[in-house]
Amino acid sequence: MSPCDDKALSGEDRLIAKYFRPLAKHPGALSLNDDAAVLAPPPGHDLVITKDALVACVHFFANDPPGDIARKALRVNLSDLAAKGATPIGFLLAIALSDTKEEWVAAFAKGLGGDADAYNCPLLGGDTVTTPGPLTISVTALGSVPKDKMVRRDGAKVGDIVLVTGTIGDAALGLALRRGAKWKLGNVQREHLENRYLLPQPRNALAAALRDNASAAMDVSDGLAGDFDKLCRTSHVRAEIEAARVPLSAAAQAALKSDPKLIETILTGGDDYEIVCTVPPGKLAAVHAAAKVAQVAVSEIGTVAAGEGARFTGADGKPLTFARLSYSHL
Ligand code: ADP
Ligand code: MG
Repeated sequence: MSPCDDKALSGEDRLIAKYFRPLAKHPGALSLNDDAAVLAPPPGHDLVITKDALVACVHFFANDPPGDIARKALRVNLSDLAAKGATPIGFLLAIALSDTKEEWVAAFAKGLGGDADAYNCPLLGGDTVTTPGPLTISVTALGSVPKDKMVRRDGAKVGDIVLVTGTIGDAALGLALRRGAKWKLGNVQREHLENRYLLPQPRNALAAALRDNASAAMDVSDGLAGDFDKLCRTSHVRAEIEAARVPLSAAAQAALKSDPKLIETILTGGDDYEIVCTVPPGKLAAVHAAAKVAQVAVSEIGTVAAGEGARFTGADGKPLTFARLSYSHL
């Protein structure tokens, strides 16, 4: 019951039963008929737990397709599990609806269910509330790794090779386009960048290879420059990355050609949901082989050295300086 409005949300139970119960395929979800879910990680495994919240007009546009909003909410969490080398177990969903129509919830649940199946990550439970503020979605994802095998940020060692998956900067450029940026791009390129903002491609297919081979890893969500700097500082190592080695899509290359200053947006803009990791030289071949099987592009962008923090250098060999290293809400 709300202190500001004495009408209890009618139909909350019906909404949950109709749209969310079909997604609760994990036996421990008890068909959403109990106060909580109950489960144990597989024997000999640790639980890996992560949460990301998405707010309308901050993380997505309120008029984005509801199914894509749902998939993004789940995928940003799946990306964290992938970076930790974890296999998904399931997820909890809190959703704060604001003047939301039932058709919206139906489409949201449909998108969510599709990805829950595709990534083998069923709904375990959650909460449904209303808010006078913007629509807000918070997902907590649970995964498992063999005991003590979670890939952490603090394991990078001098001599390790720095790898990054996919391409960097697309989503930040896609967001800029949605906000009205005008660069010389074809329709296909524009769509590619906008889609990369709308719908991340978490690299869960690489999780096992990272678990077996990476010394450190993190998901790139707030910009490669700032995120990788955090990994280096947590590991107490240094890395110098030539910006030219950072993998870019053809669309991002075209945007960068039309405005070289966009390198800052590309490296610090965020929403990539790629993985940056460090791998000892002797294990590189195994990662590349696994990436080929998983059909995930993986690029070597630098080498770990002694020191603290990450530096990005331009074509002239001079360090690139940015107004800010990464996206920050505060
Ligand atoms: P509570 O009394 O704790 O508020 P609810 O009535 O909100 O419980 O929830 C009833 C059941 O429905 C619980 O199993 C809960 O996990 C589940 N549930 C509620 N909202 C959601 C949601 N958005 N997604 C998944 N499960 C939900
Ligand atoms: Mg409740």
